[in-house]
Amino acid sequence: MLIDTHAHLDFPDFDKDRDDVIQHAKEADIGYIINIGTSIKSSRKVVELAEQYENLYAAVGIHPHEAQTVKESDYIELEKLAGNPKVVAIGEIGLDFYKDISPRDKQREIFIRQLQIAKKAGKPVVLHLREAHTETLEIIKAELGEKARGVAHCFSGSAETAKEFLDLGFYISIAGPVTYPNAEKLRAVIKTIPIERLLLETDCPFLAPQARRGLRNEPAYIIHAVEEFSKIYGLTKDDIGRITALNATELFKLAPLSEKSKIAYNIRNSLYLNITNRCTSSCIFCVTKFTNYVKGHNLRLENEPSVKEIIDAIGDPAKYKEVVFCGYGEPTMRLDIIKEVASHLKKKNIYIRLNTNGHGNLINNRSIGPELKGLVDAMSVSLNAVTPEQYVKICHPKFGTDTFDKVLDFVREAKQYIPRIEVTCVSHPDVDVQRCRQIAGELGVDFRGRIYNEVG
Ligand code: SF4
Ligand SMILES: [Zn+2]
Repeated sequence: MLIDTHAHLDFPDFDKDRDDVIQHAKEADIGYIINIGTSIKSSRKVVELAEQYENLYAAVGIHPHEAQTVKESDYIELEKLAGNPKVVAIGEIGLDFYKDISPRDKQREIFIRQLQIAKKAGKPVVLHLREAHTETLEIIKAELGEKARGVAHCFSGSAETAKEFLDLGFYISIAGPVTYPNAEKLRAVIKTIPIERLLLETDCPFLAPQARRGLRNEPAYIIHAVEEFSKIYGLTKDDIGRITALNATELFKLAPLSEKSKIAYNIRNSLYLNITNRCTSSCIFCVTKFTNYVKGHNLRLENEPSVKEIIDAIGDPAKYKEVVFCGYGEPTMRLDIIKEVASHLKKKNIYIRLNTNGHGNLINNRSIGPELKGLVDAMSVSLNAVTPEQYVKICHPKFGTDTFDKVLDFVREAKQYIPRIEVTCVSHPDVDVQRCRQIAGELGVDFRGRIYNEVG
């Protein structure tokens, strides 16, 4: 499911075929469209549309171009509209020092007043900013402080500016221009934005993607940008849709998409198995501390699944390149389950990988390597430190200071039974990744560096 977080279906461009356009969007798997107000008149209209169509939401606000026309009574009306349950944000508001259609002082004034409305309503903001990134940031920090939430729409700034918005807790949304052949700079900036903070938008009727350039844009054409994001992030189109839809749902508090937790979930062409949320470490960067979601999948289990539930959740494993027992928790805490499920998959010749913290021997009080022989083809062991003391500081293992050495023993032993082993290390500022690579070399296994805060 996709969410177009920024459209202008209230514009007269859609007067003749608005129903059809909304229908095309449904057919293109667009679950929700957020229409964004640009003036008081347009704000009234987007609210009307949101009340009329279940899959439409609205943001209300006055665009900086309109700044010089704003009257005191407009703020009163805006505040009233902001209270409508289908209004999920205040926007689009901001500063446009590129076109400078309204005087800058007036732009600043209406921007600040509308930030105050957003603060009062407890709703995020949709920002329009052009050649005014630094000042926009200063004003937001001054007006909203810690409470700042929102999206920098149709982002066109540098990687440094993107980082400032991300640090502030903002999302970034990018429209059709990502598909333009000469948008190399924009695509390079996108690479620095974590997918967990990206939103999809069309800004229709404007900014049609390359395949429709020069024509009227509409929500259904969002798929062209999704294709481009899929190349940039190395994820499937489904992955991009699911993750960005979850991002939008979280920011704008839209009706939840799917709250049910997943036992088996698909990223790229791998199938991951979530068999436990328990772990014998408590790593400082562990994703389970920050979110229930990995790449848009809810992994917070209500109960630990049985073998039958896992096999049912897998469905046809032949569709995937590999099946991975992985870590939103430590899988070897359920060694018997791994063995039973892996035996079932091995009968179908499926390639199996195990992601582990390497505590399997300590957890099970025996050498588990021989039991995995013939069942597991590859294993990733997260090391994340280069000395026993550092390991304790970063991973807080339940088994104490010895654990680091025991993990190394586990790898040495498992080498005899598992064809491919790698140790991994996150690029945490305190960890000497080069030394970690060296340790992998000494153990005679592969090494893979992982990006801090990047899971799945
Ligand atoms: S080993 Fe993995 S699941 Fe366990 S605490 Fe560390 S990061 Fe989290
Ligand atoms: Zn817009």
